[in-house]
Amino acid sequence: MNFHQYYPVDVVNGEGTRCTLFVAGCEHQCRGCYNQSTWSLNSGSVFDQSMEDKIIADLNDTRIKRRGLSLSGGDPLHPANVAAVLKLVQRVKSECDGKDIWLWTGYTLEQLTEAQREVIDHVDVVVDGKYEKELADPSLPWRGSSNQVVHRLTSR
Ligand code: SF4
Repeated sequence: MNFHQYYPVDVVNGEGTRCTLFVAGCEHQCRGCYNQSTWSLNSGSVFDQSMEDKIIADLNDTRIKRRGLSLSGGDPLHPANVAAVLKLVQRVKSECDGKDIWLWTGYTLEQLTEAQREVIDHVDVVVDGKYEKELADPSLPWRGSSNQVVHRLTSR
């Protein structure tokens, strides 16, 4: 998997202070997408073991308390990203006590494959669906267009 950006401290992508990772690769081609540079799986930089370890360490850093990890892109559930994202979310849930995970995807929950669902099993909040330019509304929290849904999958 490749990634475009990693923000170790972020307050705009999800609730609370967070770590945010923007991965590379998206097949949805939404009209009006503001992240077109992330569409190619080969864009950005390699997400290697040291990056994964850094995210875990940042989430556990008590000097700046983070509420959790946000995963965006690109699409973290692009089939080519699923294995790496699954490993990351499994580590967050087993090694980072009490941290939540938010994930943005262009697929709807109904469209997910079994492998993609396995990732979602570890995620607390999913914002799903393609960005629809005609339904865009900048006043909507955590989503760009009104067709997208913020699914709070856990009670945390
Ligand atoms: S899902 Fe997101 S990154 Fe992918 S094309 Fe749509 S708006 Fe762009």
